[in-house]
Amino acid sequence: MRYISTRGQSPAATFEQVVLTGLAPDGGLYIPEKLPVVSLQQLADWQKLSYSDLAFEVIRMFVGGAIPDAALKAMITDSYRSFTDPEVAPLRHLHDNQWVMELYCGPTLAFKDFALQLLGRLLDYFLEKRQQHVAILGATSGDTGSAALEGCKHCRFVDMFILHPHNRVSEVQRRQMTTVTGDNINNIAVEGNFDDCQEIVKQAFSDQGFLPKGYQLVAVNSINWARIMAQIVYYFHAGLKFLGKYPAVSFSVPTGNFGDIYAGYLAKQMGLPIRQLIIATNQNDILHRFISSNRYHKTALQASLSPSMDIMVSSNFERYLFDLFQRDSKRVAGFVTGLSRDVQHVSEAEWARARAHFASYSVDDAATCETIRSIHARTGYLADPHTATGLKAAEMCDTDISIPMITLATAHPAKFADAIEKAGLTVPGLPPHMADLFTRPERCSVLPNSLDAVKQFMQQRLLKRS
Ligand SMILES: *Cc1c(COP(=O)(O)O)cnc(C)c1O
Repeated sequence: MRYISTRGQSPAATFEQVVLTGLAPDGGLYIPEKLPVVSLQQLADWQKLSYSDLAFEVIRMFVGGAIPDAALKAMITDSYRSFTDPEVAPLRHLHDNQWVMELYCGPTLAFKDFALQLLGRLLDYFLEKRQQHVAILGATSGDTGSAALEGCKHCRFVDMFILHPHNRVSEVQRRQMTTVTGDNINNIAVEGNFDDCQEIVKQAFSDQGFLPKGYQLVAVNSINWARIMAQIVYYFHAGLKFLGKYPAVSFSVPTGNFGDIYAGYLAKQMGLPIRQLIIATNQNDILHRFISSNRYHKTALQASLSPSMDIMVSSNFERYLFDLFQRDSKRVAGFVTGLSRDVQHVSEAEWARARAHFASYSVDDAATCETIRSIHARTGYLADPHTATGLKAAEMCDTDISIPMITLATAHPAKFADAIEKAGLTVPGLPPHMADLFTRPERCSVLPNSLDAVKQFMQQRLLKRS
């Protein structure tokens, strides 16, 4: 399996290279040169597989021989062993044809564990083989940081530097990061906002000369292909539950960077019978504006009750544009870079195709709370605020009610106490493995909002380690 860049100016890369870098050298995102296709017969055969065995079948098509089967299978089994539900991604019936798939049974209680548990193991596998060390550098406004730290804390060849805006993440989210222990773990609270953190990360990636000899930086946000790949699996897992009983299923997906729903789009392209994919956004609704009005442009970032979906621009949308523009990488580059100047549009025919691929709906904070309340009253299910946007969008979009609608439940409600309280409900306790979160010691370095300060800090830490 070879991977190509959406911007068309980088040579094709192997799976190993793609995992170890993140972004392509030309600034584009990697995608498979040719998407594997799964027949209906193969889907039927997969119905009896456990989650890990299914993950192995799906993922090995993308790994394309870069890892021997036995080693890959062991990594995948290890990745999902710590999930608290035996189904890994259990489906819960709400009412009529409405379902949720709970993607928060992993160590940090959000769906990002699905990808980051595996990514940590993939990195260590390839780095051990190469006897090479890397530094992960990432900025987080919440869930990505803790999932990355949990996923990579055992990696022997990886040092982690996770930046978060000082005093601007929730207490549960901060503690989930600062209580992870390990000599290779570094939490940095930057005296600035999330955009400042992201800017520091971007600058550091573009000039890595400050790293000690032999080190390179790796990105673990959803621009890394391995994250998308791991997320494709649970769409198959859900679809297979209904295969043979219904002609297809639909999904409603709480969306920020377009990583999760893009995985669903790929599952559909690979042959899984999916009828509809709904993009659910909060008030940061760049994707909903595009689907509903063919206008793609930045607006100011708004803080919402679903902070993990607070984005101005959805980075993975570039991967979808590559398909929409029929692999014309010049147009992809023009569209994405043009965004800093003005509003972007696609042709009428392309817009029609995008609307055939995706429905969309934007859910503000008031509607989020109202949905948490009403779903709980009607079904007893307590949704977190991200999940609630998906549930509301499933209700508001024009859908075929004769087939199952599966809303992805992306986080555990205990992580987002604010929204649950605002909805007038009782915040549930943290699950047993996190019950002592508020008494564990924290480790974090507070640094000024300065690229040089972060570079210097990283350099000193890495020199001490090597
Ligand atoms: C990251 C996240 C999302 C958004 O996922 P994208 O892949 O960025 O679209 C939704 N809900 C939760 C809880 C998240 O952590």
